[in-house]
Amino acid sequence: MAVDFSTRKRNAALPVREARLGSITGYSGTLCDLAERSCAGTLKNRDRCFSQSSLCLSICAITQLQGILDIAVVYHAPAGCCAGAARKLVLDQLTARAGRVSRTVLVGSDLNERDTVFGSGESLKEITRKTYEEYKPNAIFIASSCVTGVIGEDIDALAAELAEELPVPVEPIHCEGFKSRIWASGFDIADHAVLRALVKPPKEKRNVIVFKNFYESHRQYITDIFHQIGMETQFIYLNSTTEELARLSEAAAMVCVCGTLGTYLGNALEEEYGVPYIRTINFCGITGFETWMREIGAKTGKSAEVEAYLAKERATYLPLIEALKKDLAGLRAVVGMGPGYTYEVTRALRELGIEVVWAAAWHYDYQYDDNRVPPALAHLEASGGADIGLSVADMQNYEIMSILHRYKPDLYFSRHPGSTVWAIKQGVAAFYVADEYTIFGYRNTYLFAQAVLDTIRNRSFEKNLAAHIKLPYTDWWYQQQTDMMLAPDTALTPEAPAAWEAP
Ligand code: SF4
Repeated sequence: MAVDFSTRKRNAALPVREARLGSITGYSGTLCDLAERSCAGTLKNRDRCFSQSSLCLSICAITQLQGILDIAVVYHAPAGCCAGAARKLVLDQLTARAGRVSRTVLVGSDLNERDTVFGSGESLKEITRKTYEEYKPNAIFIASSCVTGVIGEDIDALAAELAEELPVPVEPIHCEGFKSRIWASGFDIADHAVLRALVKPPKEKRNVIVFKNFYESHRQYITDIFHQIGMETQFIYLNSTTEELARLSEAAAMVCVCGTLGTYLGNALEEEYGVPYIRTINFCGITGFETWMREIGAKTGKSAEVEAYLAKERATYLPLIEALKKDLAGLRAVVGMGPGYTYEVTRALRELGIEVVWAAAWHYDYQYDDNRVPPALAHLEASGGADIGLSVADMQNYEIMSILHRYKPDLYFSRHPGSTVWAIKQGVAAFYVADEYTIFGYRNTYLFAQAVLDTIRNRSFEKNLAAHIKLPYTDWWYQQQTDMMLAPDTALTPEAPAAWEAP
């Protein structure tokens, strides 16, 4: 058993991705080389001698939990760590759009210097009690931070004591920012907490497919598609109630927008409760959508309905997409995204006839929680993408700037606005693939192709901006090829897997 959740659930702390999945944050080479090293068990992380700031896994874990309706997260942290609380505004807007109202609250314990010396267990207990009295949440998560970890605050014991006292689950989450360079570890930490605190054994099986996603922007569109094949949908975690999450174990199957986000919950639900986890490449582009839908059909006994739906959609959209491909052919692109979407979007771009000259992934998971190679990477290698230049760039914008300067692509695709804007300042047309469903299925692939054409047909904005901006990067600096200046290989952690298992 790869996740071994039945053993892991005894412990509130979950090993981070570096230890569990052998994940790395530094690499520069080609997709083929990365795959071969992974297969041979010789892949090593390469450290940077200089690093720009990235993201903290605490924020990732807490943002995931904050999407759940009517819960509380007590963040045992200095005030500065709570800067990410602003994301709650976005979540509230998305909740309002779904016609729901959330009482969910994030409460910071405002750790100060005195607390770091004398401890603050008693005040944390008081804050948690007060939070319950004030907001009456259906569950409380007590999250740790770097400072909590350094002073050794025993949040497990505190949470256990409060769980005896309060009539709702009180769950500790160990999300000290320093313990992993990979913010996606926060996704797994949130999943682990939800599995331990909320998910109950199944009472019945339901004809429901669970969608793990970020912002559920296409909730109605996807629900309508699945009604056509005779299934209901449940989107998590945003806008989910604790009662809905308790029944995740009863689902007919679970899918996720990308393997990076879904690996822990999907594999744990399958292993513990027999909920099939859909592990194929995702729904981006034609090949992705068809592969993904067919696997869902196979796992839920709906293959005939899926084929009927695909045939109908193909007839409508494939001619339209084929027509646009003539104008897209020959464009050159650089992609910089999280490790799931980097390979999924690269595949969809290549399908449209766009050449991806470099792909940068913010980290690399050596394997997922089922001990298998990330399917999007394996598919890309097997389908002719082996020679694509590839780096594991950990949101290092200066490395992206160096890559863009070297390749001078027509387009830069990113899912993080802070990265996109720097490409535009350099004069490169940039496409912000913010919405996770931007290339979902036939219709959105068609709309995406149209939007790409719009982006490159009028380039006056980035040209004008670049002409009036003085960047800190000089020609001398660009010549250093800083994205290649990683330190020699360093050993993976001893717990890391030796080699990929065959897919
Ligand atoms: S890395 Fe540590 S100190 Fe920084 S925000 Fe995250 S928890 Fe707080």
